[in-house]
Amino acid sequence: MQSDGGCTKVQGGCHCGAVRFEADVPRAVRLLACNCSMCAKTGFLHMIVPHGDFRLLAGGERLSSYRFGTGAAEHLFCNICGIRSFYQPRSHPDCWSVDFRCLDQDHDIIAETEEFDGRNWEKARAALTDE
Ligand SMILES: [Zn+2]
Repeated sequence: MQSDGGCTKVQGGCHCGAVRFEADVPRAVRLLACNCSMCAKTGFLHMIVPHGDFRLLAGGERLSSYRFGTGAAEHLFCNICGIRSFYQPRSHPDCWSVDFRCLDQDHDIIAETEEFDGRNWEKARAALTDE
């Protein structure tokens, strides 16, 4: 873990350790708690990270893909332990959505969580402010 001004480097991964990643993120982040049919079951806490600020360190060959609904989002699971630690969200085509719960616990992020009404996706996405 390194902190640099308002940014910090975090690492994380799946449960078995096959999939590992790191990301440069602001120390103060907004998380989205989504209630869609999938996130409601998994408890995924979305931390949106631009593709350029994210590096997959290991396990790319272990990622399985799952799509449902419009198919725009690509859900990526470790094919050993089944954990979705990050995936390509429909809401932010240029970003990954990283599960905040899958970060290594030594980070110094200050997180604020906001509800995202994924069951009414179009309306919820339109109401979302991008910074
Ligand atoms: Zn795994």
